[in-house]
Amino acid sequence: MEMIIEYVNNKKQFLLDEIKKIKEPLKLVIVQINDDPASNAYIRGKLKDLAEIGAIGELLKLDINITMEELKKVIDKLNNDPTVTGFIVQMPLPKQLNEETIKEWINPDKDVDGFNSKSLFKPATPNGIITYLKDNKFDFDGKNALIIGRSNIVGKPMAKLLLNLNMNVTITHSHTTKEDLEFYLKHADLVIVAVGKPYFINKTFQINNNAVIFDVGINRIDGKLVGDCEHDLDVKFLSPVPKGVGLLTRLSLLLNLMEAYKNGI
Ligand code: NAD
Repeated sequence: MEMIIEYVNNKKQFLLDEIKKIKEPLKLVIVQINDDPASNAYIRGKLKDLAEIGAIGELLKLDINITMEELKKVIDKLNNDPTVTGFIVQMPLPKQLNEETIKEWINPDKDVDGFNSKSLFKPATPNGIITYLKDNKFDFDGKNALIIGRSNIVGKPMAKLLLNLNMNVTITHSHTTKEDLEFYLKHADLVIVAVGKPYFINKTFQINNNAVIFDVGINRIDGKLVGDCEHDLDVKFLSPVPKGVGLLTRLSLLLNLMEAYKNGI
């Protein structure tokens, strides 16, 4: 399995070359309605990526007290603006806004985050991991996948996508016993860890040492970024934190933007 950072850089170079051939600019608008430091960091990363591949990134920062009615107008405008290739609404949202309703307002053709139920695009984190695995010729068919964590943005969509690739899929969560988790870890060929607890998976567990593990977790200990897994587990492959799944997630957004452009021509 190639290093994630090299893989992502090669893919970005490919996108840069593709975009150079295109006359009209590709544009992603990021709608932000929060003052969340983690969101600010994610947005900075996304804008940097867009600049690197020669696409336009525009940040539309809205008043934190905006009403649903006012936001609907902004989204309709983006839906109908032919210069906007795709747009995303950065989570989390303030309490007065209903996330589920807003997701359904986004034009599925421009919903590059894959939030809308009719979106043409797959959610960024699961799609980023699967695209990387496919490009690295991972054999999904009939193999055992273990997904730790059942969130709507990672665990659940990941399970659906891996099932569609003919894997045997198990999801464990906060009610799973340690004994059961141990059992599944021993038998898993692919493990996706998305819990949000530092070193949740560590050397006290017996893990199939042929397993490929993606550590989705982002945690901070004394200002240092760490994942959900101890970094030196004895397995075939473990994605690093930082410079692991976060990069694949960001890449997925760029690939979706390119796809949105191609679908629109
Ligand atoms: P979340 O924070 O919404 O939920 C955590 C999940 O962990 C829940 O489904 C819960 O059931 C599960 N969980 C809690 N205790 C558990 C236990 N003992 N055993 C098994 N599961 C348990 O989940 P999320 O939004 O998917 O985020 C998870 C982590 O991944 C966070 O650290 C987040 O910052 C990170 N994340 C990273 C990226 C990326 O691009 N790298 C993207 C999304 C999320």
